[in-house]
Amino acid sequence: MSRPISKSKRQSERKKNASESLLFLSKILDEDNFTRPILSDSVARSILRLGKRHGVRISPKIYQKICRKCHVYLVPGKNSRIRISNGFILNTCITCNRIYRFSLDKNR
Ligand SMILES: [Zn+2]
Repeated sequence: MSRPISKSKRQSERKKNASESLLFLSKILDEDNFTRPILSDSVARSILRLGKRHGVRISPKIYQKICRKCHVYLVPGKNSRIRISNGFILNTCITCNRIYRFSLDKNR
């Protein structure tokens, strides 16, 4: 028999679980993302889905590397193109040609 848990408790548990999952997923991306594109793409999809459903955010460093349109993990030289112009990093997804722009100052 399980005791009823208050709504706020349940929500904080849910968020905690979600951020733990995010941590786990980001570790996968850190360790291995060039040799197994199918894995990194499905991890990228899971990260986006978790963020949408539970409102948890992954570190911006990883978030910048996911194309929000085709939900793939962007690997420079493979499915993304990196250019630098006017103090901005331009990360172009080759599949959908969407451009993500980041300030260079932020990454310093
Ligand atoms: Zn794309």
